Amino acid sequence: MKNLWNAKAQNDPLALRVYTSRLLGQESALVLHGGGNTSVKVNTTNIFGETEELLYVKGSGWDLATIEAAGFAPVKLEVLKKMARLSQLSDSEMVRLQRSAMTDPNAPNPSVEAILHALIPFKYVDHTHADSIVTITNTEIGEQRIRQIYGNRVLIIPFVMPGFILAKKIDEMTQGIDWATLEGIILMNHGIFTFSDDAKKSYERMIQLVTEAENYLQAQNAIIAPPLKAAPKENLLALAQIRKSVSETKGAAMIAIMDTAPESISFTHHPQVASIATRGPLTPDHVIRTKPIPVILGENPEEEIANYANAYCKYFERNTNGQLTQLNPAPCWAIWPELGIISFGRTIKEANIISDIKDHTIQAIQIAEKLGGWKTLPESDIFDMEYWELEQAKLGKGASLPLQGKIALVTGAASGIGRACVEALHAQGATIAALDLNPTITTLFGKKEILGITCDVTIDEEISKAVETTIRHFGGLDILISNAGLFSPSQTIAEMNPKTWDSSIAINLTSHQRLLQTCTPYLAKGIEAAVIMIASKNVMAPGPGASAYSVAKAGQTQLARVAALELGALGIRVNIIHPNAVFDTGIWTTEVLEKRAKHYGLTVEEYKTNNILKTEVTSKEVATLACAMAGPIFSKTTGAQVPIDGGNERVI
Ligand code: ZN
Repeated sequence: MKNLWNAKAQNDPLALRVYTSRLLGQESALVLHGGGNTSVKVNTTNIFGETEELLYVKGSGWDLATIEAAGFAPVKLEVLKKMARLSQLSDSEMVRLQRSAMTDPNAPNPSVEAILHALIPFKYVDHTHADSIVTITNTEIGEQRIRQIYGNRVLIIPFVMPGFILAKKIDEMTQGIDWATLEGIILMNHGIFTFSDDAKKSYERMIQLVTEAENYLQAQNAIIAPPLKAAPKENLLALAQIRKSVSETKGAAMIAIMDTAPESISFTHHPQVASIATRGPLTPDHVIRTKPIPVILGENPEEEIANYANAYCKYFERNTNGQLTQLNPAPCWAIWPELGIISFGRTIKEANIISDIKDHTIQAIQIAEKLGGWKTLPESDIFDMEYWELEQAKLGKGASLPLQGKIALVTGAASGIGRACVEALHAQGATIAALDLNPTITTLFGKKEILGITCDVTIDEEISKAVETTIRHFGGLDILISNAGLFSPSQTIAEMNPKTWDSSIAINLTSHQRLLQTCTPYLAKGIEAAVIMIASKNVMAPGPGASAYSVAKAGQTQLARVAALELGALGIRVNIIHPNAVFDTGIWTTEVLEKRAKHYGLTVEEYKTNNILKTEVTSKEVATLACAMAGPIFSKTTGAQVPIDGGNERVI
């Protein structure tokens, strides 16, 4: 473990605390996603001039990698120490007492380990879930190995629930002990504490003790073989089906991130993968995100996911005290032999957190196997952590957005209605593949939930590639907004240039058919799948000189109507939007607008609002309608054509 200390001498203890917390947080082999906690004890003078000793301890919801001074909760040390002397304390009492002992009511809730931090009689206390140490403790003779590595320099604590129970346990075990002889505390199956009155020393002890564990693993030859180089197999349709089954089990749409890195593929090839992967998590702290075990897929993923859910319900029944409510039984990750490892999440962020945890977990499992066998905590301990209210509280209870977990594909996404659709879908929680001919699409949105793909929708191979890339990235497809189009130059039938005609038919009609055809097998495995065709008012109210455009758009509309008939049985809805006079797009420059307005003898303002409601129609409003069509409001509607044009006499 590398010592990253690079600071000049600092006087402010809290600033130093922030600095070393971040050093710990940036190393994923020490802590992952909100894991671990740190503290500093500071003497302050309060507003009444009284001296007060405060514990600044990591606040719940903060991540060590990015923590700031505001992420530390100031709690009166004396109160925390008194709490440790209570014989019993419920979780809710602990949280309430800790909050009431804070000197800043706006600070976050103190870490669940605040009492333990208070008990350790040193200014700085550092706690991590270091991979190497947790790996060694997750083996048959883990405690013996820890003793062999550290001798009496560390205190070894058997696993107990974090929070008050752990603090009590450590209080008991340290009665009469000379703290000066200790360099750290090892918590079996959980992690490690180091401490010192000096911030640097406490940090360096962490690095030192973790390095000793890493050296031990090297010396024991517990090293994983280099990963296989074999190209993974791929089955995108099966992936979409797996995502659908997991989403249905969860009762909500999920993103499925498929990891085909050599390390993951190699793990799926392990001859005992079904056994070693299903013994339990690396540290119980992970269980709220990953559940105790992943699902192992095989010949029949649908059945295997159903069996997993049944087994989860039984696990709940075996362990509940009768007062708890069962969480959904869907797996959070899946081992898919020879194909990869899939992580599921309601958002990309959630799926990526699970994916990071699984990277560390599969490595630890393989190392522990070399060390005589991966052995995790008993099921009942893991269950207690999974259903511990203080852990569940970490996940937050924010209401989910209407299209959360849904996967959409939008064409013509770099500008105008297409771009507005991407932004509206994103605002409603969807994950989106944004396709456009313009290569700027790849960097236009700059968000993990929006994948920009350069694609010429008039080339069949490009459509296939883009759709496959979408499935490979997100695991499926639920919403297709077929929008890419082109205004053809005004030409009468008599003067029609064949190129004008052909290119309008290719882009405004044929590309929609090819895209729909390519997407249909995946939409059939989507969650409440919906297709939205962006057509035109011209279908119902064509104008002279616009045959190339109007005929293609009429064909696109007819395609969508037939699609509604054909795809209904697959659960796919197909609806059509007919926008008109949407002027906030790239093609409608001020110059073009002025020219067109003049042509009709109108001012630009009159031209823009030349409809029954005398209102202007924006891209954003078209996108809002498209999102509604993709969501529950239109769940009972298919084959509908909805104009959004401010009202048009010729259409009505
Ligand atoms: Zn911990």
